[in-house]
Amino acid sequence: MNKANDPNLKSWVEVPTHSDFPIQNLPFGIFQTQYLSAVAGVAIGKHVLDLVYLHENGYFDGLGLPTGIFNQPYLNSFIGLGRKKTGEVRERISEILRHDNDELKNNVAAREIALIPMEEAQMRMPILVPNYTDFYSSIEHATNVGTMFRDPKNALLPNWKHIPIGYHGRASSIVISGTELHRPKGQTKAPDAELPSFGPSKKLDFELEMAFVTCTNSVLGQPISISDAEDHIFGMVLFNDWSARDIQTWEYVPLGPFLAKNFGSTISPWIVTMDALEPFRVEGPEQNPKVMPYLETSGPKNFDINLEVSLNTESSETIISTSNFKYMYWNMCQQLAHHTVNGCSIQVGDMYASGTISGHEKDSYGSMLELSWNGKNPIKLSDGTERTFIEDGDTIVMRGYAEKNGVRIGFGDCSGKILPPVSGPC
Ligand code: MN
Repeated sequence: MNKANDPNLKSWVEVPTHSDFPIQNLPFGIFQTQYLSAVAGVAIGKHVLDLVYLHENGYFDGLGLPTGIFNQPYLNSFIGLGRKKTGEVRERISEILRHDNDELKNNVAAREIALIPMEEAQMRMPILVPNYTDFYSSIEHATNVGTMFRDPKNALLPNWKHIPIGYHGRASSIVISGTELHRPKGQTKAPDAELPSFGPSKKLDFELEMAFVTCTNSVLGQPISISDAEDHIFGMVLFNDWSARDIQTWEYVPLGPFLAKNFGSTISPWIVTMDALEPFRVEGPEQNPKVMPYLETSGPKNFDINLEVSLNTESSETIISTSNFKYMYWNMCQQLAHHTVNGCSIQVGDMYASGTISGHEKDSYGSMLELSWNGKNPIKLSDGTERTFIEDGDTIVMRGYAEKNGVRIGFGDCSGKILPPVSGPC
């Protein structure tokens, strides 16, 4: 086990109960303040640890880190150092923050500079995302959608249990939590209408997802084998794949999602490392029929991560879904092995989203499409109003945490507010 994951570790930095960021987490992000331009940091309790300061003042001596590795507006160069090196950095940070380590703790002047209260830090996109892929790996979600739009008896398409289905999404519109998005406009066609019409989406939805980030540049033509896949994955974020269902319905045949999805996708600000998630591995669902040999995994490849979605209005907050990442039928190793089996290359900072994460129960569905069953069953909010889809002014907040042996590590909020459509001629 990584020393940094020891449940008994305590930090000299105060960590409130139920904080997402105890010493066993140490996720990486990019932050800026009134005085600092965007640089790399690590979350601990209610503070951000400034990695540039630590590096420049000798706290990482002996690790052989390149000069300026943290003094950059994105983490790409850092995570590109690879799992081994970034794991060593996390171990060293853990050491510095341990209750019985005096190096930083007893240097009051250094502490004041290195630890920045979170309310003074503005989080930025942690990585420059070169490529984004979205999978469709929850069997419950795929079954619900197939039941709603096709045939309840044959809800899953024939390929679904053989291939981790996915599509190439848009990297340019992935945004950090807190970014406000305008309701998208586009073409839609009501079932009874003769012709399509143009206007703001009337069926705006979220998709509860998680995404993993890769830390290598692979060679075009050379697949990543399933047994090596984990070496290429740095960590994970929460991911809201905002979706305009009415635009999607009209545009998706025959090539799949396009403008219904690429107007914005929101991620949580901290990348929680696979090293930190290691204690939370669990077996995934049984895969029947047996998958092809290039997709066979052994051992626990899923992760027990509790997820929840709340819909907030000006005056209310309502949890509308409670799910878990462990329900995923296809695991991340299978997704990456499949993605590259044809020779497709990957890059440092690529983002691979899971697909909507739905559970068995009605309150564990990962989209409003499923929660309201395409508008048939309105969702009741705590302020007495109802929703079938998202209204202007609504904020969707996703949260996630893993918990075991008294340790709870989380991701921070993945939040986004929907503004009215932009005005203008179209
Ligand atoms: Mn999606």
